[in-house]
Amino acid sequence: MQQISLLEKSNGNKISVVPTMGYLHKGHLSLVEKAKNFSEITIVTLFVNPTQFAPNEDYSKYPRDFKRDVELCEKAGVNYLFMPDALEMYPIGFSAKINIGRVTEDFEGKFRPFHFEGVATIVAKLLNSTLPNFAVFGQKDYQQSLLVKKIVADLNFPLDIIVAPTLRESDGLAMSSRNIYLSDEDRLEASILFVSLEKARNAIENGERNRKIINAIMHKTLRSVKNLRIDYASSALADTLESPDEFLPGETIVLLLAVYLGKTRLIDNTILKIPSILKSNNSAFEEFKA
Ligand code: AMP
Repeated sequence: MQQISLLEKSNGNKISVVPTMGYLHKGHLSLVEKAKNFSEITIVTLFVNPTQFAPNEDYSKYPRDFKRDVELCEKAGVNYLFMPDALEMYPIGFSAKINIGRVTEDFEGKFRPFHFEGVATIVAKLLNSTLPNFAVFGQKDYQQSLLVKKIVADLNFPLDIIVAPTLRESDGLAMSSRNIYLSDEDRLEASILFVSLEKARNAIENGERNRKIINAIMHKTLRSVKNLRIDYASSALADTLESPDEFLPGETIVLLLAVYLGKTRLIDNTILKIPSILKSNNSAFEEFKA
């Protein structure tokens, strides 16, 4: 893979890489489209990375359809599909681990303790395998997008990271390979994630700045679905993931949530700015201040 990339570069071509775990959907393909705007050559990597799954998680049953993925990549004009197997990436004796620290510690990091170490290590390996000028990641995995920016900045990877917006189904559910796990009933309820983000956004646009109240709005909305269990539904500063009691006008924040709907774990997020000028009436949210 490195030799191919070096050859492409020596021919004057720029390279973008789109790392994925396969079972591709339109969200992944939107990253490919984005990549094509930046470079002559697009590489998609497809690797279901065992080290980012805990033993009790869904590594073995993660959906896979390599044949379909190859077809989708061909159709989308992807130049190279890099599909190493697990032993190629982790030969016997492999022992490196990359720990990125701070932005990975809270939220997903709390509920999936070794996840981001696995992600950071495989991202570094995939970047070093494909030697791209650009790497495209989705905002859908918000903490992951912060993590890859930190890897590149802290460890001097010579490339630019591009973060692309989340593609959603018509009811607002973020596209995900894991949506296929949802029962018909749970699929109908799954739009509640987007609804809760939008309710919190609406409150913020109407003047709410108190972090606990913002979080309570998301929790209350999510709790309207019986079969749902909340891992977290929280707001934080977008760049650092710090959690002040009160957000300040002009600050960019992120609303982050992770829930189980039945047995399926779903995550979503939205980024927004705390408005500088308050609309006068925010009484609609008084009930959360108790
Ligand atoms: P995955 O295969 O789930 O590891 O995702 C591979 C890449 O696609 C990651 O950068 C994800 O953030 C991104 N991605 C996943 N779902 C979406 C979506 N609905 N819209 C845009 N990008 C996505």
